[in-house]
Amino acid sequence: MEAWLLLALLPAQPLYTTWTPKAMNVQQCDHELQQMWGFEVQCERFRVASILDAGKVRQNLIYFYTGRRHHLIASVDFCRHGDAPAGHWHLNRTPTGECVEHWGPGGDVYHGTCFSCPPWWLVIPGGLDYLQRPLRLYLLPEGDFGQATATS
Ligand SMILES: [Zn+2]
Repeated sequence: MEAWLLLALLPAQPLYTTWTPKAMNVQQCDHELQQMWGFEVQCERFRVASILDAGKVRQNLIYFYTGRRHHLIASVDFCRHGDAPAGHWHLNRTPTGECVEHWGPGGDVYHGTCFSCPPWWLVIPGGLDYLQRPLRLYLLPEGDFGQATATS
């Protein structure tokens, strides 16, 4: 699990895709995506599924591809979650590999900030907007990461 995460923190050129799930939770999204993808083959090591909520991207699910299966490792939320602003991210694996909604040390939920993940985790397919745009993207050239007009 640690090896996959270390790779996911490096620059990458993932395959981007979108999905509108039946219910808005990570397990449901993952279940539906796994059913759809099955053993679909890709050249890229990573795949990002942008999850749509009323036509806007609510979260990005970060998948590691082993050459046979896609494994969810992390998710970026484009909405506020407790004290965590839009663009924070969660680990969706325990150190032993179990897939969970939110992992955290000692039972706490870990929130990474939008500044502590690689930029490719924050990218969404062209023509779409974030439910809430992460602060970090306001520091980048306008137009590269969706419209700058959408705020909370
Ligand atoms: Zn969250």
